[in-house]
Amino acid sequence: MKIRVPDYFKEFKCIASECEDTCCAGWQIVIDNETFIKYQNISGKFGQRLRSEIVQQNGENIFVLKGDNCSFLNEGKTCDIYSELGEDSLCYTCRQYPRYMEEFGNLREIGISLSCPEAARIILRDHKKVEFEISETQEEITSYNDINPMLFINLLQCRKMVIDILQNPYINLENRVSLLLKFTSEIQKSIDEDNIQGIKDVKEKYLDNDFINEAINSLDKYKAKGKVKYRNIHELYKVFKELKHINQNDPLHLDELLMYFGQSDAREEVYFDKHNQFNKYYEDKMYKFENLLVYFVYRYFMKAVFDYDVSAKVKTAVVSYLMIKELFVLRWMKNGEFTDEDAVDEMHTYSKDIEHLEENIETLAKLFKTNDVFKLDELLIMLMN
Ligand code: SF4
Repeated sequence: MKIRVPDYFKEFKCIASECEDTCCAGWQIVIDNETFIKYQNISGKFGQRLRSEIVQQNGENIFVLKGDNCSFLNEGKTCDIYSELGEDSLCYTCRQYPRYMEEFGNLREIGISLSCPEAARIILRDHKKVEFEISETQEEITSYNDINPMLFINLLQCRKMVIDILQNPYINLENRVSLLLKFTSEIQKSIDEDNIQGIKDVKEKYLDNDFINEAINSLDKYKAKGKVKYRNIHELYKVFKELKHINQNDPLHLDELLMYFGQSDAREEVYFDKHNQFNKYYEDKMYKFENLLVYFVYRYFMKAVFDYDVSAKVKTAVVSYLMIKELFVLRWMKNGEFTDEDAVDEMHTYSKDIEHLEENIETLAKLFKTNDVFKLDELLIMLMN
């Protein structure tokens, strides 16, 4: 089995009670069957407590929440199951978190989730470009996914190219993201036409520097469309408002965004003025967005091998980038400064609130096909203005 990890993976260590958030609050933890059966056999008072704090919901066993917290989260912000029974008795989700894993035949890809603040700190930390490391284990492959090998190989090569584009320091970030959208929309077209072989031609085109320069120049036609961008961004706020959230307290401050940047000419002027100021203020830290985009591409791009929807994977990354930048600007406006810890807080909250709920990712994927604001041209206008 081949294992691929980002180079920062080995640096992660849970900071437990030192953590400013906790992964034991704000969401429901589903207990895997193996652990659930194990919990039925734990004797004594703790065994009784364990069973009494589990409920069934939609056919799944979950830990009861007390307010927002898992029942086993104690005042010292550590876990009672961990201290009473040891790490091996944690359910699969708690044992793994914030590590995530995806398998494609004999390739296993692992990473750490942005929803954990300590992982976010590591992912966002510096402008050294992220590399990916491959190792090999003797582990037997227990199940092969039912995937198209030709599509898999092509997507793997395309993802490498996408990450190279995102990490190209000679192209400004908005152009890189625009190229990424254009490249993947052409890959998607080949897939939709059932022409997997055709992906090879798209790849060759995007490996040619002359073509890349022309493609960048052609983006000029999307500039000077501030009004359209402003309208689209407003629609984006509304889309996010309709998604599911981890609590009722507007964790992404969408009401504030809608209030600050309501639909009027005066508000539009303030919007562009603030964004321009922030872009200058944050110039040296734009690598954090590069790291964010690479994170999303590494984590989701290859899942297209299962559903043939590479466009949705990339649009999720781009829309997340656009939305997170709005959150950054809002916080900077309110505080008059924007620290690295603010960046960690905004990105991990976004990830916890949006990315971690499969339903949100599925809703977005559907909207990418039905809401005009997610068409390629509209996204390019949002990036180029
Ligand atoms: S959110 Fe991350 S650092 Fe915090 S307790 Fe959970 S795993 Fe540890």
